[in-house]
Amino acid sequence: MMKMPLTSVKSGVMEEYANGVYGLTIQIVNVYFIFNRDSREVVLIDAGMPKSASFILDEAERQFGDFKLKAIVLTHGHFDHVGALRELLDTSSVPVFAHPKELPYLTNKSDYPPAKPQIKDGLVAKLSPLFPRHSIDISANVKPLPEDGSVPFLNGWKWLETPGHTPGHISLFRQSDRTLIAGDAVTTVEQESLFEVVIQKQELNGPPAYFTMDFMEAADSIRKLAELQPASLLTGHGVPMTGANFSQELFDLSNRLPVS
Ligand SMILES: [Zn+2]
Ligand SMILES: [Zn+2]
Repeated sequence: MMKMPLTSVKSGVMEEYANGVYGLTIQIVNVYFIFNRDSREVVLIDAGMPKSASFILDEAERQFGDFKLKAIVLTHGHFDHVGALRELLDTSSVPVFAHPKELPYLTNKSDYPPAKPQIKDGLVAKLSPLFPRHSIDISANVKPLPEDGSVPFLNGWKWLETPGHTPGHISLFRQSDRTLIAGDAVTTVEQESLFEVVIQKQELNGPPAYFTMDFMEAADSIRKLAELQPASLLTGHGVPMTGANFSQELFDLSNRLPVS
């Protein structure tokens, strides 16, 4: 059998997709760094795959030089978004912010439901039952995001509820240049197909289907994102899309999500 790596061609290349917003691909998932040039402070959005903490920190140092990690904000608690979290917190014990409804999955109180491998028959979907869905426990560091929609340490950014993929999934939006960090609310690659994960074909798609808990909610969340008229669409999976108004594409996508 041909051996295919579960990685993307862009793994390890850090790029600035919007002013001060840098993306880094770790195997199959993206993390984002929001860097403040004046204070040299970094807020990390999501925490990548297991065992990638030193990779994340080394790449950040290579890009920013001296920097101070101030906080981590989670779009949600799936294993590919919290994989390096424990190790990162061992290095610097910073606050981790998440939606209150996501906290049970981050404090060892609930596990996510099993994946739905029946949804698509791509190889990643077939492998997905093997992906860990067990809760981690970062009780000592995790805090609920502020109720007023502000994001700690990130002036000009707002967080918004975009449930469906998970109950407490959030997205982050900066109005000044309409930068959207969408987590797994949408993807820019057909996540169920390993081939497209490897070549990272750029195409707007719904949330990774086999882990999405509620498609009706997910479609509503995509409509909410469409209303923001984002000019950059920085997703948890796939190559970020920039330099357009993605509103219509998002509305179209919300209308063709499978309803289950
Ligand atoms: Zn996810
Ligand atoms: Zn994901």
